[in-house]
Amino acid sequence: MRNGGQTTVIKRLLERRIHETVTDQDTTATVAVMLRVLPPPRALLAVSADMRSIFEQGIGEETLEIAAVDADREALEELERDFRAIVVTDSLELIRRIRSRKLPRHPHILYITALDEPAEREAGLMAGANDCLGRRAGNRELHARIGTARRIAELEEVLRIALAENRKLSTTDDLTRVASRRFFSKHFPRETERAARYGRPLSLILCDIDYFKNVNDTLGHVGGDEVLKQFAGRLQEALRRGVDWVARIGGEEFAIVLPETAYEQALGVARRLRARIADREFEAQGCNLNVTASFGLCSVQRALIAECKTADRMLRVADAALYRSKNTGRNRVTATLLPERSSKTSPQAPPAQPPRASP
Ligand code: GH3
Ligand code: MG
Ligand code: MG
Repeated sequence: MRNGGQTTVIKRLLERRIHETVTDQDTTATVAVMLRVLPPPRALLAVSADMRSIFEQGIGEETLEIAAVDADREALEELERDFRAIVVTDSLELIRRIRSRKLPRHPHILYITALDEPAEREAGLMAGANDCLGRRAGNRELHARIGTARRIAELEEVLRIALAENRKLSTTDDLTRVASRRFFSKHFPRETERAARYGRPLSLILCDIDYFKNVNDTLGHVGGDEVLKQFAGRLQEALRRGVDWVARIGGEEFAIVLPETAYEQALGVARRLRARIADREFEAQGCNLNVTASFGLCSVQRALIAECKTADRMLRVADAALYRSKNTGRNRVTATLLPERSSKTSPQAPPAQPPRASP
């Protein structure tokens, strides 16, 4: 449960902050709660036997979760296998080796000096230690130094969780700068409610890049990312500004929401988008390549207020249409018009108009 319950608490806290006006005091309180719910940091102890027993007896498991190792080599292997935020060692060589390794994160290193002389401390800090502690230091100093190490490790952990959670809570997709999946999940149902309230048409297009794995295999992940950015840009350029909107709802899957747009018109948009992608090569990592995408369209002429599950239903139908485009050769559009009176039909019932596939 190292990363279970406490992340849920932090997630709730961060979510709440999105909807509330937040003061500096609130932020301080949020950080305090986050620190409180975190489990104790994990430390690696690579010191001689006498120091090891001082630590193991003096530092309780509510302060640090300690794993002890004997030799430098063992310490490095352990750190690479299972990262520890704090390393306590009396070996300058180990400090140098840790700092020269490309570890995914940087541990806080506490160097235990033999004599506690300035030259020793200097050597420790120059090797890459963050702090030093004399072998003969008293219990209070030991706890104070560990307290500092612990606070740094915990603050970094809080920062990491907050960054990861904020990313999830964001309304914009980091890579493509179109709307995020989260934004889509919240705002697409609002579009269906609005369409129902005013008795207006609404269309949803889902699209998925064809054989995108091959793009990654050819250009590498960075090249694949570049194609995704250009792909989202091409979709966006072809739409009405400030009315239609695009969201990235999966790795290489996008949703295009067309408010006030009826079936025939939306079919025209989907066909135009398909052509825009397929007709001009993409350029990434110094290569030109052809990219195509498959499209699935679902339109309602007039959303019904009685149909409270319209958003889910449109999504399901558009997804089925996209699936059909994939299965009938890719690089094509499949379109479905939902019947007006849908509140009495079961969600799985076939649409009134059969799907129309077209390249
Ligand atoms: P299909 O025509 O059936 O859709 O084939 P596909 O290869 O596009 O589909 P599949 O779902 O098998 O693979 C999607 C790939 O998209 C796999 C995944 O590595 C890649 N992908 C997902 N997200 C990203 C991303 O953010 N960047 C990059 N570069 N690749 C991503
Ligand atoms: Mg795909
Ligand atoms: Mg996909």
